[in-house]
Amino acid sequence: MTDQTLRLLPKAAGAYVLAIDVNEDVQLAPKQFAGRVIARGQYLYCGSANGPGGIAARVKRHCANDKKPHWHIDALTTAPVGKVISVLAVPGGNECDLCTCLRDKFLLSVPVAGFGSSDCASCPAHLLAVPGDASVVVNVLNIIKNTVPG
Ligand SMILES: [Zn+2]
Repeated sequence: MTDQTLRLLPKAAGAYVLAIDVNEDVQLAPKQFAGRVIARGQYLYCGSANGPGGIAARVKRHCANDKKPHWHIDALTTAPVGKVISVLAVPGGNECDLCTCLRDKFLLSVPVAGFGSSDCASCPAHLLAVPGDASVVVNVLNIIKNTVPG
């Protein structure tokens, strides 16, 4: 993700999907995910941003290499473990709709139940695994761009 791309993101509230390249296996925090590992590979993460600065501010934070961990997803987007390689912003969108759409259309699997979805009652997780290399995960984002509601 270039600074130029980040500048183009909408400041509106809504939802987004991050394409994340994880380059090493990640041992998750024992408190909630004892013994669970996220294997190196490609992932999609659905989130929402309704605070000040909207989607732009939230995605910028996800893309920062160095940050104090707050959300589950921070474990995958902090250097040197992994990085955000592409994003789909959906102003006015809903993270759960995006997640459902991705699971239904691409039959993506949930690597760890509950990951990123602590405050969600309907999704198995807000992180989905995408088989293949970085080009596949970026292509999935490009395809869904034309089909998402919102
Ligand atoms: Zn959800």
